[in-house]
Amino acid sequence: MNSKKSGFSTRAIHSGEKHEDTGSVTTPIYQTAPFKFKNAAHASDLMGGREKGYIYSRGLNPTTEVLEKKMADLEDGEAALAQTTGMAAICAAVFTSVKGGDHVIADEVIYGSTYDLFVGLKDYGVDVTFTDTSDLRNVKEAFRPNTKLVFFESPANPTMKLTDIKAVSDIAHEKGAKVMVDNTFLTPYLQKPLILGADVVVHSATKYLNGHGDTLGGIIVGSSDYIKSARHTAKNFGGSITPFSSWLIIRGMKTLPIRMDRHNQNAMAVAKFLQGHDLIKSVIYPGLPEHPQYELGRKQASGAGGVMAFLLEDAKDVPLFLDSLKLCTLAVSLGETATLIQHPATMTHAVVPRQDRIRYGISDELIRLSVGLEDVRDIIHDLEQALEVNQ
Ligand SMILES: *Cc1c(COP(=O)(O)O)cnc(C)c1O
Repeated sequence: MNSKKSGFSTRAIHSGEKHEDTGSVTTPIYQTAPFKFKNAAHASDLMGGREKGYIYSRGLNPTTEVLEKKMADLEDGEAALAQTTGMAAICAAVFTSVKGGDHVIADEVIYGSTYDLFVGLKDYGVDVTFTDTSDLRNVKEAFRPNTKLVFFESPANPTMKLTDIKAVSDIAHEKGAKVMVDNTFLTPYLQKPLILGADVVVHSATKYLNGHGDTLGGIIVGSSDYIKSARHTAKNFGGSITPFSSWLIIRGMKTLPIRMDRHNQNAMAVAKFLQGHDLIKSVIYPGLPEHPQYELGRKQASGAGGVMAFLLEDAKDVPLFLDSLKLCTLAVSLGETATLIQHPATMTHAVVPRQDRIRYGISDELIRLSVGLEDVRDIIHDLEQALEVNQ
């Protein structure tokens, strides 16, 4: 890392921002589809790639460009590409990385739609092996001569298990494969997969990066060459982010460090409360020393984030518990100001067949909690009163 670089918070606010002729201190929203060419020769140079510039917002937009530069800087990557959703980013990244005849190793516990995307890849001639990447022996065993990509989240959604980013990257690179990490849960403020050895980072910017639950977005970060080819793939897929969404995410990212600090603090207090409650079977939060991979978490991340899972004693108590909450909002998504709670088995991970789900640890009594930025005593009080209804 370049030690001359400014600190993370300074970069979150200033990186990528360009001051306009008007003196506008914040990035304007360039709400336009095409950009006017200076003349016919300029048009031909831009279209022919001999000159860089704006042509059409599906390919490049100045507001979105600020977001991409900021994000590339914060992840310590060379370049970034923003897309309209996290899934658009993951799709574009996956289709940039593999082609028919290739093989992918994916962790078995990943975001529901990502799992579904990988299951569908066989229709395009790409074989996917799902395995538990938290155990390096599984990763080694899953390699085939045509393995091109290893994909995982750490922490994994929703079981909060961790994968050793550096160790998996070392194994993959020895075999000539690339490593793609979904860093949505921790953000570059808490974990930098590229520094740890991964090749590509993907994000649902809908979550912590934007942080306010008011837009969708996705980002890919990697080397300049990789992003160049991802930009080509993505331009044809057409999942470009709107300038307004880019602007909202830029605005959100300026407060990312202080929000993540508070998410960490609040989540730790909630995890400790739940751990001590009679009706809770277990709490899975990488910030707790009882988490089986607590040491790995400390080694590769500077905080555990705001998401945790906990298990009620009995799955049949789940609906009444969820329906008794007054402050915690029953909704999918995570990483925003409000505390959100959901039941993966019937909600986010309902697409995963039950027998697989149970094997992966996404049991019927598991609840996912994204601890928000409310006063933590109010969050705890709400969970407590809803648990009491079941007593
Ligand atoms: C939400 C999420 C996604 C998908 O992002 P969208 O913006 O909803 O398309 C992917 N990965 C993880 C870990 C997520 O939480």
